[in-house]
Amino acid sequence: MRKVSVFGATGSIGENTFDLLQRQGGREAFCTVALTGGRNVARLAAQARALGAEVAVTAHEDCLAELRAALAGSGIEAAAGAEALLEAADRPADWVMSAIVGAAGLAPGFRALAQGATLALANKESLVTAGPLLLAESARHGARILPVDSEHSAVFQALVGEDMAAVERIIITASGGALRDWPLDQLAQASVADASRHPNWSMGQRITIDSASMFNKAMELIETREYFGVEPGKIEVLVHPESIVHALVGFRDGALMAHMGAPDMRHAIGYALNWPQRTALPVARLDLAALGKLSFAAPDEVRWPALRIAREVMAAQGIAGTVFNAAKEVALDAFIAGQIGFLGMSTLVERTLAQMEAQVGLGKAVESLDMILQTDAEARAQARLLIGHNKD
Ligand code: NAD
Ligand code: MG
Repeated sequence: MRKVSVFGATGSIGENTFDLLQRQGGREAFCTVALTGGRNVARLAAQARALGAEVAVTAHEDCLAELRAALAGSGIEAAAGAEALLEAADRPADWVMSAIVGAAGLAPGFRALAQGATLALANKESLVTAGPLLLAESARHGARILPVDSEHSAVFQALVGEDMAAVERIIITASGGALRDWPLDQLAQASVADASRHPNWSMGQRITIDSASMFNKAMELIETREYFGVEPGKIEVLVHPESIVHALVGFRDGALMAHMGAPDMRHAIGYALNWPQRTALPVARLDLAALGKLSFAAPDEVRWPALRIAREVMAAQGIAGTVFNAAKEVALDAFIAGQIGFLGMSTLVERTLAQMEAQVGLGKAVESLDMILQTDAEARAQARLLIGHNKD
């Protein structure tokens, strides 16, 4: 039986993964090693019981007693804290879902690759903050990373059997998020609730707000560069409000291969779970005649400065991705906490990048995971310092 673990099992991607594992046979078909979550201990325990997991881990030490109580009599181990997450990632597994949100997902993913597991990577922050290092770790241990972002899964599928040398461009689509049609002069006033209403996808709150600011697509530009090794100039963003075409790959003969599907993350998760086979998945089938038409537009970089910032980050290389991701996470926290406005997020990220460039230089080569973690901490501290001066 295939051994599987799910990091971030109680989140949006985690629940969709749990759903597929259950539909594909549950404990009869998979041997579940570790499931991890946060404060939703009752849900984590219920998932662990349903799949007969070896261990359930909450990220919070103060939730351990509650988790133990919820698992009483089940024979399932309970653990808590950052070290316990790493220990869970060391436990041998064939397939590991990385679906923690934020840079906190990086270290467990690293450890899962070190034991040779196939890493189904939803945690895009890992690639933005430490892409080259993560890919090198995967290669060093003969492990594999499979994309679980709808655009990157789509590109991956469009590339099956193709020669990368024939790829002219990669186009990832963006719905435009909750505020796509807002007048520009009102964006500064957008509230957390306004930015949290995604038109097409049901996702965690952080990625939903990142979709409204386009920081999500900015991260995905970097993610595309890392996964597919293409030059930044060959990667394009296309606004596509319906979220039906997830990505397109253009080849040197002019052919454009598009991947289409209903906006349901179980497609990308299921593809990674069953790869290289395709298995029947419970996703809606498209009725193109009923849809009638699809629309596309070029992204407006005035509305969405995050896209321009991502291009600057890709050009800088080195630790720029680490700083970018850390600053973006602090900016998002500050927006959610009401400390800065919607447009203040991109201002804060730009200022943090400029400060870090002045202080340490962004082009500095990345040598180790420790260096990434230290840079991440420095960039967060810098961004927090700047929040006081960043009231727009
Ligand atoms: P979510 O907020 O719904 O769930 C996050 C999970 O991580 C939860 O289980 C939570 O308990 C856990 N977690 C949060 N902070 C943690 C920490 N510090 N340490 C350990 N565990 C922690 O998030 P989501 O929307 O499922 O997104 C998960 C990841 O997948 C993100 O990186 C996101 O960008 C990516 N992703 C999500 C979608 C989507 O449709 N939701 C699509 C593509 C990519
Ligand atoms: Mg995506």
